[in-house]
Amino acid sequence: MAETTPQTAPDGFNPEQKRYLEGFASGVAAARLTGGLAIGQGPAAPAEPTGPDAIHIKAQDKTVKDGGKLCEQEKWKRAENPFDGHNRLIAEAAAGKQPKPEDNFRWRYHGLFWVAPNQVSYMARLRIPNGILHHWQFAGVADLADQHGGGYVHVTTRANLQVREISPEHAQPFLDGLVDIGLTARGSGADNIRNVTGSSTAGIDSQELLDTRPLAKSWNNWIINDRSLYGLPRKFNVAFDGGGVMPTLEETNDIGFQAIEVLDGAAVAPGVWMRLVLGGISGHRDLARDTGIVLKPEDCNAVADAIIRVFIENGDRTNRNKSRMKYVLDAWGFDKYLAAVEDKLGRKLDRVDPAHVAPRRPTDRFAHVGVHAQKQAGLNWIGVVLPVGKMTSDQVRALAEIARDCGDGQIRLTVWQNFIFSGIPDARVAEVESRILELGLTTKAAGIRSGLVACTGARGCKFAASDTKGHALIIADHVERTVTELDVPVNVHLTGCHHSCAQHYIGDIGLIGAKVVVSEEGDTVEGYDIVVGGGFAENPKIGTEIWKAVKAEDAPFRVEALLRTYLARRQGPDESFQ
Ligand code: SF4
Repeated sequence: MAETTPQTAPDGFNPEQKRYLEGFASGVAAARLTGGLAIGQGPAAPAEPTGPDAIHIKAQDKTVKDGGKLCEQEKWKRAENPFDGHNRLIAEAAAGKQPKPEDNFRWRYHGLFWVAPNQVSYMARLRIPNGILHHWQFAGVADLADQHGGGYVHVTTRANLQVREISPEHAQPFLDGLVDIGLTARGSGADNIRNVTGSSTAGIDSQELLDTRPLAKSWNNWIINDRSLYGLPRKFNVAFDGGGVMPTLEETNDIGFQAIEVLDGAAVAPGVWMRLVLGGISGHRDLARDTGIVLKPEDCNAVADAIIRVFIENGDRTNRNKSRMKYVLDAWGFDKYLAAVEDKLGRKLDRVDPAHVAPRRPTDRFAHVGVHAQKQAGLNWIGVVLPVGKMTSDQVRALAEIARDCGDGQIRLTVWQNFIFSGIPDARVAEVESRILELGLTTKAAGIRSGLVACTGARGCKFAASDTKGHALIIADHVERTVTELDVPVNVHLTGCHHSCAQHYIGDIGLIGAKVVVSEEGDTVEGYDIVVGGGFAENPKIGTEIWKAVKAEDAPFRVEALLRTYLARRQGPDESFQ
C-alpha cells in the first residue's frame, strides 16, 4: 500500500528540495508550501520560560544550602544556559573552533556531541518519537550524512539515528538540514529527556492493547517546547509499551508506561490502562518497578511532567554517579516520591492490585526481523537485520525507496538497533526481500545475530574500554561457524563502559568493556567482564557476572562455551537460555 498521494512542490524548487517536499503534508515543510515559512527558516523557537530557569536555580540553591558542592556540569549550566549560548556556539564552530568541555556539554542540548579523541568531530543524535520516520526523512538523513558527516548512519538502542564525523564548520548546517526535513536533535544529549520510545509495531500488531504513536509524539512535543523541562540533574528516559509482540524495553527507562488490561473487580473500571513503572536504569543494575498506579492514556503527559519536576527539585546535583532519579527513589522510597507527585498534581492517582491485571501477552524475540503478518489483512511488516546498527548512506536511500515503492512509506526503527518496513502487501514481500538482499542486507537471522546489540564502542566513544561493534561481529561470525545447532534466539549485548548504552545487564549474555592487564608493567589490552541471565518484557532480570577481565580475543570462545553448555543441559528448545 503506497503512502498518500504526494503533494506537488511549487515550481522554483530544485529537484532535491522537491524530493524533500514530496509527501510532506504537515509541519515545517507544509508551512513552507503554503507560504508560512521560507526555506532556511526553522520552526518558531520555543517560548521563553516565565521565570528564566527559575526552577533549576532554586533546586541548585537548595543543594548548596544543604552543604553540597555543585558538580562541574551544574556550574556550566548556571554560567550560561546552553540555549542562551546557541549563537556563540554556532559562531565558534563556523570558525572551525573545537569546543571546550563546557561547550561540548552545551552543544549536547542541541544534539551534537564532540567525540574527540576517538573521532575529531561531532556526532549528531536525532529525536524520532516512537522511532518512526517517513521514507523521505530517512533519505534526507542519508543526504545530510553525505553532505556534512561520514556518509553512514547508525540506528541506536533508543530507536533513533546517529550521524558521525561532522566537522565544526558543518555543525550548524547539519542542524539546519534536519529542520528542512522536519526533524530536530534538540535535547537529545546532556541532562535532558532523551528520544521517546514506543512500540515499533504500534498500529499494525494484532496483539497490541494500545497504539503508542500518538502518546510518544504528544510527549515529545510536550518536552521539547518547554524550557523548564531541560537541564535535569541527569539524563532521563521515557518509554511507552503498547503490549504488542515486540518488546520496547520500557523497564530500562526512568519512566515506563505499559499498556495493561485491568480485569473485573479492580478499584478502577475494567479495560486498557497505562501502568506506571519507575526507576529503570539497567547500567546501575536496576529495572523499573511497578508503582501500582494506572493511568488513562491521556493522563500520561501530566503525570510524567509531575514526576520529572519532583526529580528536578530533589535530584542530586553534586555527584554525577548518584544523580539519576533512581537515587531519589532509593533514598525516599516509592511512597514518599509518589506522594510528592500527587501533591504537585493536586490529586490522588488510581491504583490497582496486580491480582486484577491480566498477565502481559508474550513477546516474540524474532518480531524485529523477518516477515510478520500485520493486523490489517494482506499486509506485513518486514524487519531488516543491520550489522550492529550501521548503514551506508547509499543503503539508507535505497531502503527509503523500498518503503516508498512497496510499503506504507514509513521506516520504523527499533530498540534492537534495526528497523522494520510496514504496510507491505503479500504480493510484494518477495520483491522487498530480494531488493534488501541486493543491498547486502538480509531479513533472516538465527541464533545470536538477531539479538546482537553493541554500543558505539572504542571506534567513536572516548569512554569505551573496547571496540564493541567490531568484537560483536567477530563473536557472531564465530558462533555461527561453531554452534550451528543453536535453534533459539539468544541476546548478546556488548557495552563499552558503565554507561551501559547497550544494556548488557538485560542480555542473555552481556559483555561490558574492561581493560585487561597483561604484563607486570601494567600493559593492558581490550576485554570484557561477562554477565549472564538478564531478561526483559515478561522475564525482566538483571544478569549475574560470571567472568571478569576476559581478553577480547578470548570472548568469542567464552560465548561459544556458554551456548554449548546451554544446549547440552536444557530440557528442550522451550527452556530459554535465561
Ligand atoms: Fe560510549 Fe560507554 Fe555508551 Fe558505549 S556504553 S557508547 S562506551 S558511553
